[in-house]
Amino acid sequence: MTKVTNDVVRVVIVGGGTAGWMAGAALTRLLSGQCTVRLIESEAIGVVGVGEATLPHIRSFNERLGIPEAEFMARTRATFKLGIEFRDWGRIGDSYIHPFGTFGRGAGAIDFHHYWSRLAREGQDLPPLDQLSYACTLAREARFEHPDQGRGGLTSTFGYAYQFDALLFAPYLRSLAEEAGAVRTEGMVVDVERDGESGLIRSVTLADGERVEGDLFIDCSGFRSLLLGQTLDEPFEDWSKWLPTDRAVAMPCRTETAVTPYTSAIAMPAGWRWRIPLQHRTGNGYVYASDFISNGDAARALEEAVEGEKLAEPRLLRFKAGRRRRSWVGNCVAIGLASGFLEPLESTSIYLVQQAITALIELFPGRQMDASDRDEFNRVIDLEYDRIRDFLILHYHATSRDDSPFWNYVRTMAIPDSLDEKLELWRRRGRVVKYREGVFLDASWIAVYLGQGILPEGWDPRADVAGTGDLVQAVRSLRSEIAAEVARRPDHRAFLERYCPMVA
Ligand code: FAD
Repeated sequence: MTKVTNDVVRVVIVGGGTAGWMAGAALTRLLSGQCTVRLIESEAIGVVGVGEATLPHIRSFNERLGIPEAEFMARTRATFKLGIEFRDWGRIGDSYIHPFGTFGRGAGAIDFHHYWSRLAREGQDLPPLDQLSYACTLAREARFEHPDQGRGGLTSTFGYAYQFDALLFAPYLRSLAEEAGAVRTEGMVVDVERDGESGLIRSVTLADGERVEGDLFIDCSGFRSLLLGQTLDEPFEDWSKWLPTDRAVAMPCRTETAVTPYTSAIAMPAGWRWRIPLQHRTGNGYVYASDFISNGDAARALEEAVEGEKLAEPRLLRFKAGRRRRSWVGNCVAIGLASGFLEPLESTSIYLVQQAITALIELFPGRQMDASDRDEFNRVIDLEYDRIRDFLILHYHATSRDDSPFWNYVRTMAIPDSLDEKLELWRRRGRVVKYREGVFLDASWIAVYLGQGILPEGWDPRADVAGTGDLVQAVRSLRSEIAAEVARRPDHRAFLERYCPMVA
C-alpha cells in the first residue's frame, strides 16, 4: 500500500467568477499551510455575471470565512431574502411564497400542514397558508429583522439569505483571498498538459507562454468546462427533457416599488421571469425554452413586464440543464458551471458551489489523490444535484396550466421515478421525504405542494385528535398573532439603510 503523505498541495484554479473566487477565498482562509492557491482568470472571456439570489446556507459560508455580514452586504449592495414568491405557477392568478422558514409555530409534535390539510379537506374556510408562516408574512409586508433564536417563538421560525450584485461578490472574495495569500494571474489558458501514463493534469499553459504546474486543478471555467469537459472529456448528463428551459435574457432596471425581501419567480408563457431587488437596482430575467419562444420575443416580453426604467439592454445567456457525470476526475475538481447547471428557479447554483467547496475541504487530498476521497466527493455532489433536480421539476409538473404549448409539455411530461415516489408519499398522507440536512427540507416541499394545489388525500392520524372548532380557532389566532408580530418589525428598506448603508 502506498503511504499517504500530506505535503503542501499546489492548487491551480482556472476561472475567477463566483465559483473561482469562492473556492480561492475558502481554500486560502481555511486550509492555510496545507495548500498554495494560484488563480488564473481571463478578463477577455469575462464572467457569466448573473447569480444574484442565494439560499440561507451562504450565511454559514460567510461565517466560516469570518466575513462580517453588514460589511459584506454593503460591499455587494445586498438585500435580505426571506424566500421566493411564485406567481401564476399552479394556475394563473395564484401566488405563494416558498419561505426560508416553517408554517405554524414550528415546534409541534407533528407538522402544522397536517392540521391545515385536514381542515381544508373538511371544507373549512381557512386563511391562505402564507398567512400562517411568520417568514411569508414578514416577506409580504416587506419588513425585516434578524431571527430571534434566543427568544424562541414565532420570531425564531425562519432563516434568511441575500440578494446581491453578482458582479460585486467575486471581487469582494478576491480581496479576501489575496489577503490570505492567493496569487492571481490574468491570462487565458490555451493548453493543458496531461501525464501520458496516469492521465493526470500536470500543467496549464497561458497565452503568453507561461506554464503553470499544480497538484490539484480546480475547474471554475464556467460553461466552457475547460478542464473537466474539454480536456478530460467527462460526459454530460443532459436533463433537458425534464428541465427544458435553455436560455435567459437578463436586464436590470431601476427599483420603483418596495425593496421586497424576497425574490419573485413569475411564470411566463414559455418559462418564468425573475425579479431580484437589490439596494441600488432590480435584477430581472426571463428564463425560457427556445423550443417554445424566439430570443426576440422573449426579450420583448421581458421589457414589457419589468416595472422600472431599464438600465441596460437585454443580455442573452444560453445553458443546458444537467451535469458532468463526475465532478472530480483524476486530479481535477470542477466547481460551479463547469460541473453542471440547474436552472435558477430556486437559486441553487451558488449553493452547489458552496457544497462542493465544503466537501472538497473535508476530503482535501495530499499530493497523491486517493480514489476513495474522489468517490465520496462525487457521491455527495450526486445527492445534491438529484434532490435539486426533482424539486425543480416539481414546480413545472404540479400545474394545471394549459394555456401554452410550454405548459402543456411540462405538465404532461414523464418525471423521474424518484419524484413520482415523493409525490405518492405526499398525496397519501401529506408526508415528505425526510432529508436530515442540506437543502430543501420539509417546509420547502410542503410550500410547493400546497402552493401549487396538491392537497393530500390524508394526513397524519395524530392530527385527528383535536376537535375541528378548536383547530379552526387556533389557526385564526395564529394568523392574528403572526400579523401583530410582523407589524412590530421595521420596514426592510429602512432596516437596510441603518444596518448596511451603500458604500461608494
Ligand atoms: P463564470 O462566472 O462563467 O466564470 C468563469 C471564469 O472562467 C471566468 O473568470 C472566465 O474568465 C474564466 N475562464 C474561462 N475560460 C478560461 C480560459 N481559457 N482561461 C482563463 N480563464 C478562463 N446562481 C444562483 O445561485 N442564484 C441565481 O439567482 C442565479 N441566477 C442565474 C441566472 C442565469 C440565467 C444563469 C445562467 C445562472 C444563474 N446562476 C445563479 C448561476 C451563477 O451565475 C453561477 O453559478 C455563478 O456565477 C458561478 O459561475 P462560475 O464562476 O462557475 O462561471
